[in-house]
Amino acid sequence: MRHRNASKGLMTKVIHAGEAPDPTNGASAPALHMSSTFVTDQVAGFSAHDHEDEADVPYLYARWANPNVRMLEAKISALEQTEDCVCLASGMAAATAIFLTFLSAGDHLVISDVCYAGVAELAHDTLPRMGIEVSRVDMSNIESVSAAVRPNTRLIHTESPVNPIGRLTDLAAVSEIARKADALISCDATFASPLGQTNKDLGIDLIMHSVTKYIGGHGDAIGGAIAGRKELIERIRNESGIHHGSIMSPFNAWLIARGMATLPLRMKAHETGASAVANWLENRDAVTRVIYPGLASHPQYELAQRQMKNTSGMIMFQVGNAAKGKEVAQQMIERLQIIHYAVSLGHHRSLVFWMETAALMATSFRLEGAQLESYRAYAGDGVFRLSVGLEDAEDLIADLAQVL
Ligand code: PLP
Repeated sequence: MRHRNASKGLMTKVIHAGEAPDPTNGASAPALHMSSTFVTDQVAGFSAHDHEDEADVPYLYARWANPNVRMLEAKISALEQTEDCVCLASGMAAATAIFLTFLSAGDHLVISDVCYAGVAELAHDTLPRMGIEVSRVDMSNIESVSAAVRPNTRLIHTESPVNPIGRLTDLAAVSEIARKADALISCDATFASPLGQTNKDLGIDLIMHSVTKYIGGHGDAIGGAIAGRKELIERIRNESGIHHGSIMSPFNAWLIARGMATLPLRMKAHETGASAVANWLENRDAVTRVIYPGLASHPQYELAQRQMKNTSGMIMFQVGNAAKGKEVAQQMIERLQIIHYAVSLGHHRSLVFWMETAALMATSFRLEGAQLESYRAYAGDGVFRLSVGLEDAEDLIADLAQVL
């Protein structure tokens, strides 16, 4: 993907990358192309294998490429400073695409023992069924990552900050382990957004986002993205887009690209709002613990300062044991006026949700021993995951003060 805007600032990139005024009618805003097929003036092959570079062949069929999806891909790769990007139907489709493109029976995956619940379950239940060996490690412990690597390790997958506890991975250190092992490294950077850390400079080969969250930013479209080197992205596009068919709809791409035009502004506002709310929470008697990478009390504050350019809007906090957590969750459902009690994150609306440790251990994470202890050191009996939106911080604080 060529970046005419490669040397431009972040705002210029998100607004202009991948788009231009319509040459036929001069429209300044991008049109929505809901066409499943495209009239072509070239005699081109019918199989994906006929094209060395699927992304640059003329538009033929929307499962291969669509102008709105390409526009969004150009914007994300411009921000992540990668050669290319592929957008897929959801964040889960993006994670699945990474695993199914780069792992085969007999290969070994090292994955963070805590990651988005759906990804954890996929690694736990589906991949072993396909003959893929999986080791789950605490990625905040570099020695455990090194110790987990085997001769057949092909991929290390991490997530930073990790959903739902806000623990960080030292991405440069883990990338170095992957490089020495001749394995790829992928990072789910959804919590951080592309503004949170310079993933490519930290050595990440495959930068994954649920674009449902910060990149789209308005809670109205589901999608996923993977940015990286052209040869890797082409393999994913071929495998997951063309063969598995997990493509993004043009309408979702159009909506998400429109949301993305304000991403750098929104991320600054999410960070400012979250810092104010996190500081307020930390001084509240009803709150026993706050985890936010921008607070000096975060257990990896030094790493957050070194690695993160924006500490984002995700705050985790505790109110005591599981019974107390459930009680406060019920009060939130009944009393909150502004903050929605709902899953998801990264939207302009603030969202909060109770994540009980015992329930998550039984369903998604199934950790024991030292790994369970590391989880509990962040989450105790459970955390409230608060995605601070773009409302005025004082209104959010007043809303929370009704229950905390
Ligand atoms: N990764 C993270 C960190 C997430 O929080 C989520 C969803 O919450 C996903 C991946 C999955 O994304 P999607 O819901 O778009 O499939």
